[in-house]
Amino acid sequence: MMKKVISVIALLTFLMTNKIYGQIPHLAGKIIISIKSGTIDAELNLRNLPKTDNYTIWLNSGLNIEYFRDGNNQFNYSYNTEYNTELSSEALQHYFPSNDRKSRFLPNSLIVKYTGKFPVIADTTKAYDWGDWKGNIAFNGQTLRASEQSAWYPIIYNKTDGIVIDKYTFDIELECSDCQTLYINGDKPQKAYKSNFKSVQAVPLLMFVGNYNFKEVDNIFILNSELDANKINTLTKTTNSIIKFYEEVLKTPYGKPVVYISSTPVSKKNEWMFVTYPTITVVGIDKYKLDNYFDDKTYQFKQKSNITFIAHELAHYYIGTKFVPNSELRWFFLEGLTDYLSIKAAKKILGIEIYQTIINNYINELKDFEPQQLNLIKLASEINDTYRYRFTPLFLLAIEQEIGEDKMYQWIESVINGESVKTNYDFFLSSLRDTGVTEKQIKLIIETYIDNLKSKENIINRIK
Ligand SMILES: [Zn+2]
Repeated sequence: MMKKVISVIALLTFLMTNKIYGQIPHLAGKIIISIKSGTIDAELNLRNLPKTDNYTIWLNSGLNIEYFRDGNNQFNYSYNTEYNTELSSEALQHYFPSNDRKSRFLPNSLIVKYTGKFPVIADTTKAYDWGDWKGNIAFNGQTLRASEQSAWYPIIYNKTDGIVIDKYTFDIELECSDCQTLYINGDKPQKAYKSNFKSVQAVPLLMFVGNYNFKEVDNIFILNSELDANKINTLTKTTNSIIKFYEEVLKTPYGKPVVYISSTPVSKKNEWMFVTYPTITVVGIDKYKLDNYFDDKTYQFKQKSNITFIAHELAHYYIGTKFVPNSELRWFFLEGLTDYLSIKAAKKILGIEIYQTIINNYINELKDFEPQQLNLIKLASEINDTYRYRFTPLFLLAIEQEIGEDKMYQWIESVINGESVKTNYDFFLSSLRDTGVTEKQIKLIIETYIDNLKSKENIINRIK
């Protein structure tokens, strides 16, 4: 009897862990785009869906659903829709109610057909100052840029565990008759208006199609840029040296060749970089355009800070793609730890003076900031931008002073290669312990930098 109980528990544990992480969904089908009309038409077959009855299927709010059908194309599923902007402001969130309407079910495979028409903002004179972001479906007359955050393809959200499943293997037929070049993240760009895109490794899907050229140098692709060979040389050398640094200290390979996309905003003022591994997209005009990052005489970066930004985006492979933080300390890990790594890369590649300048700038920006104690954080949103991008990296540098650089890298290596768990405060401490940080050191870290009204001052004094 006892044996039976144990095997039932083992089976349940197996089912519960495999329910979420066990299988990777696969996306197949056809997508038709027009960059002149701003349209997306898709009929996609989604297979290997997770076994869950507590979920939603996200699709961008500008996409109109013609039908959800069973995977064998025999009948339609009726669906209900929610819109929880805390989870995604971009996507409407659909689900299939069970017959009694009391619960919901998710089949193992389904077909979804949808169509959407979006503004084509070729001229930004009437555009908003701010109104472009990673989750935007951006048609600018020449290209379409759509990342996984826009939910241009169906994304599964597991409500029980709060896990977004947006990384798929895929085999997609892409057609855009007014495009010259097509690209879906995970495969190589192609000079064609119609082509097949595949990935056997699960990646988040970023689509970038339109009238543009691309180059390949040193295993790096550069899309929609007119950079000359000398400037490209600077970009690829810098990129590869940052990757080499991360691979060495974290003892974890980067995996795929990096792709750069140069893109313009469909607003007047937005300029930023984002990553959808392994692609880094630089969105901006004038001095914020990738092509204008480099000096015409020396071919070097005009602003050293752009190297640090690239280092930050590259570090998101390890934190954000490989290791996906969640729970209360989501932003602490996702942006804070990523930024810590980028500062370390900057120190290695740009030298101690630039490193010191970065640190001093961060310290200045914390002048009026009063951090909530890490152990008291209850909501992910309590960790605001300053906390994420300024306070946390310095906090981690102070910990580094206590435990040493080697231990610090060992800790990050174990975190990024560990199992999917809730990344809360308990995890933060237990992961340090698992790396071999002593109880004495942990006590000191807590008493000096966490559970202390002068934690900010203590951090600054320690790293100055
Ligand atoms: Zn980031």
